[in-house]
Amino acid sequence: MTNSPQAVIAIHGGAGTITRASLTADAEARYHAALRDVLAAGQRVLADGGSALDAVTEAVRLLEDCPLFNAGRGAVYTAAGTHELDASVMDGRTLAAGAVCCVKRVRNPVLAARAVLEHGEHVLFAAEGAEAFAAAHGVALVDPAYFDTDARHEQWQLARDEQRALLDHDGASLAAQRGDASAPATPATEPAATRLPHEPIDPNRKFGTVGAVALDLHGHVAAATSTGGITNKRPGRVGDSPLIGAGCYADDATCAVSATGSGEMFIRMVAAYDVAAQIAWRGVSLEAAAHDVVMNRLPRIDGRGGLIAVDARGNVALPFNTEGMYRGIARIGEAPVTSIYR
Ligand code: ASP
Repeated sequence: MTNSPQAVIAIHGGAGTITRASLTADAEARYHAALRDVLAAGQRVLADGGSALDAVTEAVRLLEDCPLFNAGRGAVYTAAGTHELDASVMDGRTLAAGAVCCVKRVRNPVLAARAVLEHGEHVLFAAEGAEAFAAAHGVALVDPAYFDTDARHEQWQLARDEQRALLDHDGASLAAQRGDASAPATPATEPAATRLPHEPIDPNRKFGTVGAVALDLHGHVAAATSTGGITNKRPGRVGDSPLIGAGCYADDATCAVSATGSGEMFIRMVAAYDVAAQIAWRGVSLEAAAHDVVMNRLPRIDGRGGLIAVDARGNVALPFNTEGMYRGIARIGEAPVTSIYR
């Protein structure tokens, strides 16, 4: 036995109405493979003695680059047909934090959030100011068309027809259902898993944000979260993901948390911080605190979704109050474990 902490990384790719019947075997395999690859990359950072902060930043960067998830490339569309991306990162060692919201041209919003954290003067930058800050600190900007994918565009058009805002994978299921009858086949350039056939449509029950939490070999924790928000959201709408305390929080003394779900409810419940606060002030375990926030407190205001959390002793909790949550966990020297359903 050794006294050094058992380094671990956990990730999520959104929670919602994800049932076995709703995912094809092929789609399921794609999600598992994507989650495993990201976990393996985070594991390498930690095994090399890298910081939890570096591990979560790298994991979320990779999730942003994967079009299966609603963050970075593959982000959902706003009501104006644009993409507005939000991201945050927090270091449990120092409580340093950085976040950006409503960015349209930052290829990897988590890298912009990280630049904000490193610079240290401010915590949250919005819109053009965030883009200017990112560019000035060497973070790549892209043409907004970079974020376009046919699958998300189809979701958006369907959401507009329905005249409502959809939480990521709800839009995917709507597209798939309509697609059964009339829509063209999934374009060859789009992964089949971005369409999830035969799912019930429930705008409150499917979310696609990404996030990571980690504990490094030095005993420090960190968290990062990134999202495109919700399909057909009003321009300027900001959810919980870039808000420290709501969708992201990290403190070595308690835990690191990344959330996914109905952002407005997670903001109102200050969900991520509430997990840490329950550990600090009620003296409960990570598992008990995370469970209480997701299973008791959020449902009081109809908050749907889940979160991932890790503490400085290597405990991990991944509760969700929806049918499924794309998630995975990897400890150093062990094979990554990924799951989708309950
Ligand atoms: N929490 C995100 C938001 O409200 C959505 C999600 O988790 O998919 O922007």
